Amino acid sequence: LKSLSDRALGIKPSATIAMDSRAKELMAQGVPIISLGAGEPDFSTPETIKNDAIAAIHGNKTRYTLPSGILELKEAVCSELKNRHHLHYDPAQIIISSGAKHGISNALSVLINPGDEVLIPSPCWVTYPELVKYYGGTPVLVPTHQSAGFKLRAKDLEGYITSATKLLILNNPNNPTGSTLNFAELAPIAELILEHDLWCVSDEIYEYICYQPQSLRSIAAFSPEMQQRTLIISGVSKAFAMTGWRIGYSASAPEVALAIARTQGQTTHHPANISQYAALSALSGNRETVTQMVNAFKARRDYAIASLQDIPGLLASIPEGAFYLFLNIQEFLNQAGALNFKNSVELCDYLLSSHHLALIPGEGFGAPGYIRLSYACSDANLKTGINRLKTALNLIKSNAS
Ligand code: PMP
Ligand code: GLU
Repeated sequence: LKSLSDRALGIKPSATIAMDSRAKELMAQGVPIISLGAGEPDFSTPETIKNDAIAAIHGNKTRYTLPSGILELKEAVCSELKNRHHLHYDPAQIIISSGAKHGISNALSVLINPGDEVLIPSPCWVTYPELVKYYGGTPVLVPTHQSAGFKLRAKDLEGYITSATKLLILNNPNNPTGSTLNFAELAPIAELILEHDLWCVSDEIYEYICYQPQSLRSIAAFSPEMQQRTLIISGVSKAFAMTGWRIGYSASAPEVALAIARTQGQTTHHPANISQYAALSALSGNRETVTQMVNAFKARRDYAIASLQDIPGLLASIPEGAFYLFLNIQEFLNQAGALNFKNSVELCDYLLSSHHLALIPGEGFGAPGYIRLSYACSDANLKTGINRLKTALNLIKSNAS
């Protein structure tokens, strides 16, 4: 047989999905795994949204829609962008995608030419570098620093911009660190983007899950020029507990939106009609359940921080958004004795096999020496998971001494 495409052979499996799948397989075999791995809210989709989706089925919303999605949902997204970010978009600038991941894939597919360099602040979500390579671009990882709370600063980016740089992927709040940039912190980054004539793909999927006192603004709101060159990506998966419905969206300049709609029309056509009605219900309904869920995430974050802060050096930062803790486990690597792990992958394997705890190794996020803990799980699982982690780390230390 002739070989598969270089593109297909080059793409690495998602480290988050790989660990989640292993945990699920073990659970199916009856192993009592606690998973603080995948970033997926444990809450059920709110009842009103489910009921509106059922009504959509009975109302025969079961046929093709426009490739860009149903008009009512695009209008609801425009209202959302106006209310949250004071940004004006026309529905024609909104493309509804099959989740935010698909929105990012669409965005990169219309921006990247072979050889283009794409700046990705690191630690970064596992998917960005792989998608950039998939579309023929070169991912350029730009380190952010634990000492700065992993917040991206313009000075971190400057040295990485070359004549081949095409765009920056900004993730605010960030997965895996939870670092969150307020509008003042975004300003110098926006200036740099404008100065170097770059595009910006701004992944704002965690925008609602934010513990900062002031609400988040998109980098696109910096100026009309910035709005012109930014592709905002967001969706309903995280804030509305709708991961499986697969609805995300992009907001971009009219000619970019047209290119995305053409691409989507030739690839997936459009996300499920029924799911689009469910997302419409989410965006046009009241936000009580979102507030309750965000309050629960904050309480879990505070609990996890309080429980782990007696382990010196473990908490790499205090996250202001998303639902992850990024843990620095360098103190627990290369220890003497039987529990000697060379890297985070080996440590996470040990946690899974010997302590039945799933966490994601930092390597997948471009950050060896760290592990990611998701607190988007039940309070009981969080408590048990943290106890297991502490037991394991204590064992590693006591074995070494
Ligand atoms: N961006 C980031 C940073 C994420 O963590 C995720 C999680 N899946 C996504 C995008 C994708 O979201 P969705 O499930 O809507 O595709
Ligand atoms: N985004 C979530 C995570 O980081 C879900 C899995 C994925 O799509 O990567 O865990």
